Amino acid sequence: MQELLPCFRDWLATQRDEAKALTLLRALADESLKVAGSTDPQQLEFDALDLAQACHWPECDDFDAASKKIKSANLEKYLSSRAADHEAFFVQHGLQHALRVCKRSPSGRHRAQWSLEPYSLASPVAIIDAQRDNEPVEAGLGTDGPQIEYDYATAGTVRPSWLARLLFGDGWFRTKSLRGLLFVCTGLAPMVCAAALVATVWLMLFVKRPVTTADLAFLIFAAGLGWMLWDFLRSLWWLLSDRIVPASDVLLGWREDPAQLESFKDGNARIIGLVRYSATCPVCAATVELRYGEGSERRRLFGCCVEAPQEHVFTFDRVTRRGRRVR
Ligand SMILES: [Zn+2]
Repeated sequence: MQELLPCFRDWLATQRDEAKALTLLRALADESLKVAGSTDPQQLEFDALDLAQACHWPECDDFDAASKKIKSANLEKYLSSRAADHEAFFVQHGLQHALRVCKRSPSGRHRAQWSLEPYSLASPVAIIDAQRDNEPVEAGLGTDGPQIEYDYATAGTVRPSWLARLLFGDGWFRTKSLRGLLFVCTGLAPMVCAAALVATVWLMLFVKRPVTTADLAFLIFAAGLGWMLWDFLRSLWWLLSDRIVPASDVLLGWREDPAQLESFKDGNARIIGLVRYSATCPVCAATVELRYGEGSERRRLFGCCVEAPQEHVFTFDRVTRRGRRVR
């Protein structure tokens, strides 16, 4: 165990995914290394809070939130989908065993415990295990493809950037409020700009003189500005009619993952807030984020795996918060 852990940590260090599972496994490896000399097997087990603390997550004092987040990270899938690379790394370092995640769920009110356990790379047990790990995926792919469930971070938990805090406060605002009025103004201002642009171009039709370089420069500038205004107004329109659009990075805090702007009802009031739908890819355990489709589906949001965004694609339904594999 003591020689497997450093090797496992080195293998994790070579991974370049943006998966929650990777952060968790690194924390699990580091924590296990600290107590690797211990003879008490219970010291090598960690519950959700220990892991959340080791990852410096904000959920480090909320057991339910931490345990939900760890469950959705799907540690076992992360390792089993990368088993070939992972096991080859151990073999390369002259080891006959590799490490896998073991989750022990005691009955009653005891908390589930995660630990790393060695398994032999040569014995047929490992091969059977690997096959068993792969089976559900294959079986799932045969019928409807693997299902995906999206986690939802409510409005107020996604931090806006300092610039957007003026409009969003803690992450949301009511449309019938001072902030709502400000929001309407952010929509009206581009409309006025667009109208002014059209009026200028129309007035230029009456100018009877040869085209100059200044005219061409103005034309390029006006086209660029017009495109930006159109893009902004279109996403505003889509927000009101489709209820959800991806939020621009300008609106989000520096350390925030991609989030969405959602418009929803709370009683009679309509609220616009920054929320986040995220999921863990059931194929490779990387993070899934929402992106627009292409071609005729450029207005439809899909859940795309950040590691294989063209291959691991899932539908997205903001009501059921579920999806199935498209590609
Ligand atoms: Zn994936």
